[in-house]
Amino acid sequence: MTTLTPMQIGARMDRLRARFDGIDALLVTRMVNVRYLTGFTGSAAMLLVTADDATFVTDGRYRDQAADQLAGAGVTADIMIGLTQAEQRAALAAAASGIVRLGLEDDGVTWGQQRSFIEWFPAAELVPTAALVDGLRMVKEPGEVERIKAACAIADDALGELLPTLAQRPTERDFALRLEFAMRERGASAVSFDPIVASGPNGAKPHARPSDRHIEPGELVVIDFGCIVDGYCSDMTRTVSVGEPSLEARRVWETVLESQQAGVAAVGVGAECAAVDGASRDVIVDAGWGDSFIHGTGHGVGLEIHESPRVASTSTGTLAAGHVVTVEPGVYLPGIGGVRIEDTLVVTPEGSITLTCFPKDLTI
Ligand code: ZN
Ligand code: ZN
Repeated sequence: MTTLTPMQIGARMDRLRARFDGIDALLVTRMVNVRYLTGFTGSAAMLLVTADDATFVTDGRYRDQAADQLAGAGVTADIMIGLTQAEQRAALAAAASGIVRLGLEDDGVTWGQQRSFIEWFPAAELVPTAALVDGLRMVKEPGEVERIKAACAIADDALGELLPTLAQRPTERDFALRLEFAMRERGASAVSFDPIVASGPNGAKPHARPSDRHIEPGELVVIDFGCIVDGYCSDMTRTVSVGEPSLEARRVWETVLESQQAGVAAVGVGAECAAVDGASRDVIVDAGWGDSFIHGTGHGVGLEIHESPRVASTSTGTLAAGHVVTVEPGVYLPGIGGVRIEDTLVVTPEGSITLTCFPKDLTI
């Protein structure tokens, strides 16, 4: 695999501080956000970001890894590694002394943690904050787009190798497993989610789990999958048929393709997420299958497979350059099957660049 350009992780904490509004410091406890701000990929750590300083604490399991990763990322922080729970509490309490309003991540703190933090920081007022780090993460740096693109390319390549094998009537589980193996073989660190391989009537369930059902000629199979490269996810869906499917299946497929293309065309700087959803949805509604498009049109993709911004009829957000989103309309007909077609795109001043490049052909 080609070498990835280093990211500017060390610069992110100052951008976070610029978003402080009504807080003196933020305690970052969601691990994906700790990773974003420090480069640390372990499973347990906390990061206290104050106006002019930061304190990172983790336990003994990550002694060497944390030191290496934070140094490698160019992060400026008091790095306290190998601490017991009590020592982490004492270190954070000391670092937070003088803090009047301490922000917590409202979507990352459990009830139990919140009760603990009241005891840990008795002098501070704990303030819920929404999407402070997630808001930063929405706009991808070039290095982040490069990683998502690499993950998309691996998925494209893996599907290219395996699609012809559908003619051998594999089970959904076998095909999903081979897809996973092919992506890891090509350098992916993991799948970004368990692949969905849903054939025939199973395709009517948007998030069906691969079963022992054999994929038969002439039926639709929905293949939704992706992988992870250096922490960043890809996400793509193709719906295909081995040989010609029924006339109705073809009509549904062509409608979903048209809907997907309309959604992609609506993506651009300043586009309202709800309008992108509407562009896709209108095509399906006009074709008479509006009630069978039972999910939002897309979602952000990055360190998490589903992140902001959401692209749905209820979304209030607006797209900006550097956002990475999917466009994935679908039609699901119980007892018959389903069609979903999905690409991952990066928003650019000119509109968008599609990162998942696998051809969209109904029949193989
Ligand atoms: Zn997907
Ligand atoms: Zn998706």
